[in-house]
Amino acid sequence: MLIGCPKEIKPQEFRVGLTPNAAREAIAHGHNVIVETNAGFGSGFSDQDYIDAGAKIEGAASDVFAKADMIVKVKEPQAVERKMLREGQLLFTYLHLAPDPDQTLDLLKSGCTAIAYETVTDNAGGLPLLAPMSEVAGKLAPQVGAWTLQKANGGRGVLMGGVPGVGPARVVVIGGGVVGTHAARVAAGMGADVTVLDRSLARLRYLDDVFGRTFKTSYANAGNTIELVAQADMVIGAVLIPGAAAPKLITKAQLSEMKPGAAIVDVAIDQGGCFETSRATTHQDPIYDVDGIMHYCVANMPGAVARTSTIALGNATLPFLLNLADKGWKQACADDPNLLNGLNVHAGKLTYYAVGKALGMDV
Ligand code: NAD
Repeated sequence: MLIGCPKEIKPQEFRVGLTPNAAREAIAHGHNVIVETNAGFGSGFSDQDYIDAGAKIEGAASDVFAKADMIVKVKEPQAVERKMLREGQLLFTYLHLAPDPDQTLDLLKSGCTAIAYETVTDNAGGLPLLAPMSEVAGKLAPQVGAWTLQKANGGRGVLMGGVPGVGPARVVVIGGGVVGTHAARVAAGMGADVTVLDRSLARLRYLDDVFGRTFKTSYANAGNTIELVAQADMVIGAVLIPGAAAPKLITKAQLSEMKPGAAIVDVAIDQGGCFETSRATTHQDPIYDVDGIMHYCVANMPGAVARTSTIALGNATLPFLLNLADKGWKQACADDPNLLNGLNVHAGKLTYYAVGKALGMDV
C-alpha cells in the first residue's frame, strides 16, 4: 500500500501523523511511504529523517493526496484537504465529526473511507488513540499551573514544592481519569500537597491502591468539591462525561471563596470546561483573570509539546496503521472490532451511530 502523510495545515498544529520511525516500520512491512516536505518540521523531524527511514518526500500536499492509498494525519481534514480526498481512499486521523456537519458532508461526498482515531476502542472499553493526548495534557497541567501561579503572571506567588520551613502549594484535581491521574502524579512529584476528587468510587479505590500516600482522594460531592477548591492554590479541571459537555462544577460566585491569585487549569475546556468562568484560550494568550482567579484554558494543550505528542500518538496509532496497510481496511476491521469502532464514513455513508444521531443523519 502507498501511505501518504501531508503536513498539518490547521492553525497552530505542529504535530505530524507519521514519525520517521513509523514510516520505517511500514516500509519494513513492504509498504511505500510518501511525506509532504516539511511535514515533520514542527515536531523536530527533518525531510532527511524521513528519507533515511526509506520514505519519499513530495513537494505538495496535492501530490500526497493524489497518489496515496491511505492518508495518515493528526487533525481533521480542512476544507481544502477534503476536496483532494477521493473515492476508495482511506483516511486515518482524528475527525470529531459530531459537531462538524460541513466536514461530515464533504467526507460523504468524497467517497473515501474514514477511520477516526477518537472512536477506536480497546478491550477494556477505553479509547487508546485519545489516551496519549490525555496523558500529555495531564502531565502538562501542573507545569502550566505552576507558571500561572507566579506573581508576574497574576498568580498567588506560591512555589509548588515550598521550601524548608514553608509549606507546599495545595493542588486539587477534579476528575481522576487519565488526565487527572497524570496531573496528580506530576503535581505530587513537584512536591505539592495533592487531592484528587472523583465521582466514581471504583476509580478512587484504584487510585488509592496504586498511589497510596502520593496523593489523597476525596469523593466529588458538591460540599467536598467547594471546600477543597476554597483551600487550593491550584485547581485542575479534568472531568469527562463521555459524549456530553463537561458539568459546571464551580460557579462564578464560588470564585469569591477561593484564595486571591489561585490558578485554575481547566483541561476539560475542550468539552466546554468545568468552571462557569472558563472560556477557551490559545498558546499565544493562555491565561486571563476573573475576580482575581487566574484561568488557563488552552483547548489543545498537547500542541505545546508537539514532539512528545507526535511520538506518543504515533506509538498508539502504529499497530492499527500497520494492520490497515497489511490487510486493507475491510479485513483489518473484520478481524478487530476495536478498529471497526473507528469506522465513521464509507463510500458516501455514515457508519458511526453517535455521529449520525448528533447530526440528525442516517447511518
Ligand atoms: P477520563 O474519562 O479518563 O476521566 C474523567 C474522569 O472524570 C472519570 O474518572 C470520571 O469518573 C470523572 N468525573 C466525571 N464527572 C465528574 C464529576 N462531576 N466530578 C468529579 N469527577 C467526575 O477522561 P480524560 O481522558 O482524563 O479527559 C478529561 C478531560 O480532559 C476531557 O474533557 C478531555 O476531553 C480533556 N482533554 C483536554 C485536552 C486539552 O488539550 N485541553 C487534552 C486531552 C484531554
